Amino acid sequence: MSEKLFVEQVQNYIGGKFVPSQGSEYRQLNNPATGEPVGSCPVGVAADVDAAVAAAKEAYPSWSQTPVPVRARYLFDLRNALEAHFEELASIVTQEHGKTLAESRGSTRRGIDMVEVAAGMPSLMMGNSLEQIASGIDCVEQRQPMGVFAAIAPYNFPAMVPLWFLPFCIASGNTIVVKPSEQTPFCQNRMIEIIDSIGLPPGVVNYVHGAKDVVTRIAEHPDVAGVSFVGSSAVAKKVYAKAGATGKRCQALGGAKNFILVADDCNWEKSVPNIIDSCYGCAGQRCLAGSTLIAIGDAYEPLVAKLKAQIAKIKVGNGLHEGVHMGPVISASHKAKILSLIELGIKEGATLAIDGRDIEVDGHPNGHWVGPSLFTDVNPTMTIAQEEIFGPVMCILRAKDLDEALAILDSHPLANAASLYTANGGLAREFVKRAPAAMVGINVGVSAPMAFFTFGGSKGSFFGDLKAHGRDSIAFYTNNKTAIYRWFSEEGEANYAR
Ligand code: NAD
Repeated sequence: MSEKLFVEQVQNYIGGKFVPSQGSEYRQLNNPATGEPVGSCPVGVAADVDAAVAAAKEAYPSWSQTPVPVRARYLFDLRNALEAHFEELASIVTQEHGKTLAESRGSTRRGIDMVEVAAGMPSLMMGNSLEQIASGIDCVEQRQPMGVFAAIAPYNFPAMVPLWFLPFCIASGNTIVVKPSEQTPFCQNRMIEIIDSIGLPPGVVNYVHGAKDVVTRIAEHPDVAGVSFVGSSAVAKKVYAKAGATGKRCQALGGAKNFILVADDCNWEKSVPNIIDSCYGCAGQRCLAGSTLIAIGDAYEPLVAKLKAQIAKIKVGNGLHEGVHMGPVISASHKAKILSLIELGIKEGATLAIDGRDIEVDGHPNGHWVGPSLFTDVNPTMTIAQEEIFGPVMCILRAKDLDEALAILDSHPLANAASLYTANGGLAREFVKRAPAAMVGINVGVSAPMAFFTFGGSKGSFFGDLKAHGRDSIAFYTNNKTAIYRWFSEEGEANYAR
C-alpha cells in the first residue's frame, strides 16, 4: 500500500538548502483521481530565480574543475539512491498526476536510465584529436562545460522529464536550475531530498518552483548559458525566442499530434492492443501518444471494429488500484478543454462512435474523469484532427495509400512522432524515410528513444537543433574547443618543413 501523499508547501532548493519562495502566493493541488489535497506549490517570483542562478554561478568554477570521473561517481550514488526510492517515487507520480502505477513505474525507470547513461560521461565527453595536421603540428578538439543551465518541465512526466536534462548537464561539468511543473511538483520535491542526500557540492543542483514568471525570468537571465524546455508548442516557441534574444542556447520540445498509420496487412492481434495503449495510455497525456489514426486502403472497417471491441474493456479508475488501465486527466480545466474539443468534433460532423464524456468511477465522485472516446469519419481539416487534444480521444481518418496518408502528415504543423503498423518491409522503409516526424515507429505505438538515443521532434514540435539526451545532449551542454599545438625544436622549424 502506497503512503498517502501530502506536502504542506514545497520549498525551493538553493545553494544546498531548502528555502521558501520569496513570493507569498501558493496554489493548492489535489489528487486528480480523488480530489483530495496533496499539498501546495509556490506560484514563484523572479527573485527566486535570481537566487538560484546566483548559487549555481558560484558553484560552477569549482564543479567544472572537478575531475570528470569524480563527477560521474556522484551519478552512481544518485542512481542508487533513486533506485532505493523507486516505488515511493512512482507512487507519488500516480497520486499527483493520476496515471496508473505501472505507467508511473515505467517513466520513473526511464528517468533512472538517464542517470545511468550520464554516469558514462568520461567516455561520452571525449573529444577528437589528430597528430601531424601539418608538419610538427597536432590538433585537439575538447568539449568544455559552459556554466549555468536551466531545465523547465511539463506536468505529464514528473519523474522523467527533469532527468532528461539534469544528469547530463551536471556530469558534463555545468550547474543547473530545475523548474518542475507547478501542476506536478511533488515527485521532483522528493527527488530534491534524494539529491540532497548524496552530498553534491552546494549550488550544483538548484530547484525553483513556480510558473510563467519564473520561466520568463529564466529565459531572460543574463547568467544562464542555456535552457532545456519541454511543454506545449506555444510556450516552447516563446521560450526559444526569449532565450535566443539573450544569446542563450535553447532546446525547446513542444506539443504533438501524432499519427498512427495502419495498413490492412498488419498483425491485427498484436497491433490493436499496442495502438490502444499508445492512444489511451496515461489518459492520452503523452507527447508520444498516437491520437490520430489513418487507416490505409481496406484497413478502415476491420480497424474500427477491432478497436471498438477492445476499447470497451478499458477499466478507468484510481491509478493506485490493481486492474485499472487508465487514470483521470490532470485537472478540471483540462477536462473541460477536452470535452469542448469533443463537442467541436461532433459539431464539425465527425461520428462519436465511443463517448467517454459521462463516465463515472465508483467511489471517486471528485476525479477528473474522461472515458476513452473514439471519433470515426474524421477528415484532416477538422479541429479534432488539427489540435493537440492531450486526452483519451482517438480520431480515425482514411487514406487510399501511403502517399495520401503521408500528405496528411506533411500538411500538419506538428511532427513529434509517427508510427506505421504493417508486415510490408518496403512500405515500412518508405514510411521511415518520408515521415516528417523525427521519432518514428514500425509496429511500435510509442516510439520513445531511450536514454542513449536522442529524443525530440521536428517542425512545430521542436525549436532548436540539439535535442534531449543521447549524444545531442553532450553537444548541447558543452562547447567545442579546438586547440592547435606546435612545439619549436632546438634545431629550428626547417627540420619539420615539407
Ligand atoms: P505547458 O506549456 O503549459 O507548461 C510547460 C512549462 O512551461 C511548465 O513548467 C509551465 O510552468 C511553463 N509555462 C506555462 N505557461 C507558460 C507561459 N505562458 N510562459 C512561460 N512559461 C509557461 O505544458 P504542460 O501543459 O505542462 O504539458 C503538456 C504539453 O507538453 C503538451 O503540449 C505536450 O505535448 C508537451 N510535451 C512535450 C514533450 C516533448 O518531448 N515534445 C514531452 C512532454 C510534454
